[in-house]
Amino acid sequence: MKIKFLGAAREVTGSKHLIVTKEGIRILLDCGMFQGKGLETDTMNRHLGFNPGEIDYLVLTHAHIDHTGLIPYMYKLGFRGTVICTHATRDLCAIMLADCGKIQEQDTKWFNKKRVKQGKEPVEAIYTRVDADQCMELFIGIPYNRPFKMNGHVTLTFTNTGHLLGSGVANFVFDEGDRKIRLSYTGDVGRQSNRILRPPVPFPQADIIITESTYGNRLHEVTKIAEEKLLDVIKKTCIEKNGKLIIPSFSVGRTQEVIYSLNNFFNEGKLPKINIYVDSPLSVNATNIFRLHKECFNDLMLEKMEADPDPFGFDRLYFVTSVEESKRLNDTKEPCVIISASGMMEAGRVKHHLANSIADRKNTVLAVGYCAPSTLGAKILRGEPRVSIFGNEYPVNAEIEKLDSYSGHADYQELLNFLDCQNKSEVQMVYVVHGEYEAQQFFKEELEKAGFTNVSIPEMGEEVNY
Ligand SMILES: [Zn+2]
Repeated sequence: MKIKFLGAAREVTGSKHLIVTKEGIRILLDCGMFQGKGLETDTMNRHLGFNPGEIDYLVLTHAHIDHTGLIPYMYKLGFRGTVICTHATRDLCAIMLADCGKIQEQDTKWFNKKRVKQGKEPVEAIYTRVDADQCMELFIGIPYNRPFKMNGHVTLTFTNTGHLLGSGVANFVFDEGDRKIRLSYTGDVGRQSNRILRPPVPFPQADIIITESTYGNRLHEVTKIAEEKLLDVIKKTCIEKNGKLIIPSFSVGRTQEVIYSLNNFFNEGKLPKINIYVDSPLSVNATNIFRLHKECFNDLMLEKMEADPDPFGFDRLYFVTSVEESKRLNDTKEPCVIISASGMMEAGRVKHHLANSIADRKNTVLAVGYCAPSTLGAKILRGEPRVSIFGNEYPVNAEIEKLDSYSGHADYQELLNFLDCQNKSEVQMVYVVHGEYEAQQFFKEELEKAGFTNVSIPEMGEEVNY
């Protein structure tokens, strides 16, 4: 068996690992987009490192674009294998890939306008919304904890990681006749304290583990403190300063967690009398998909739903879908909370809200998730005094706040706890992926201290044999 690391190697985006079994079956683990490096990203995304027409199976750990975003591109290039994931991941992919296809079309149109002005040939979008819709015909959904025989030699079981609705460790058993190899690929691992999702559960004993390491060298704040801070930031911005609070948030996952926290504040009578807007069509669709997948909700959430059947809806919460409504929101002077995508502030309607609000001291920008180093979000969080949005320079006068316990990723202690379900003496190798190199080196040492004897941080393109 061979494993080749084709993305998220010493970085966080572009998750893509290729397994070729002894029988020559090609199984791709995730097919994520690289994000956040401008033109370089586009080139990296267009060079997959394999022939999509030769892939037999694509197994998805969860629906985030940095794990799924290139599926429509693979489809466009001739991929007709089977995509296997949980039911909730399938449903989320249907809306998230379509949204990503639309973004690709819009970005390319904008990029081509510039190229034509420079007398250059226009380029083709990496894929379109139509490609994204069509690739969904390849998907099959399976439940958690149910072994699925992919073929005579490979069995796959998903176990919950509590990172995103539908997220799971992909646990494989490869039967090579004279031996069996157990390989578990964690995808992204969530937190014990996720407000909505069931916490991560132990996964079956593995010989080989491929683990994420996003927060490989960091610890999070306690959730309760984060919720109090969220309420404090709302009061300070909207009541004391009469300003707008902009919360750039991933449409899927973070947004629903923030809405749910606000819903609880509302039920407890703590939320000030201000309007809350969720300004992102994808967030609205994703919230509807969350409502369909109660099987992913934790016990406390299910208990609360007995008294409040809609945990994602309350008076003064408005879901904005049309462009006109969104523009009106841009012009409004009323103090309010605007939750809008994207979380890394690189795309989507939040850029308009930032362009309108960031220069004014009375406003606040509150980051609630991870921002990759080269994104606009990271620049703002680093405290850069001026930032460029849509080609215009803006002074950063708004207050900048951060709540990282809304992160969907376990911190390194939580990751170590998660991996502690394994009998370390049986684990032959741990591959650390999906992290910045510095965090990975720290995490590698922690894993070794915890008793994992062979830990490797693969390089992009590295291939290993078993
Ligand atoms: Zn993820």
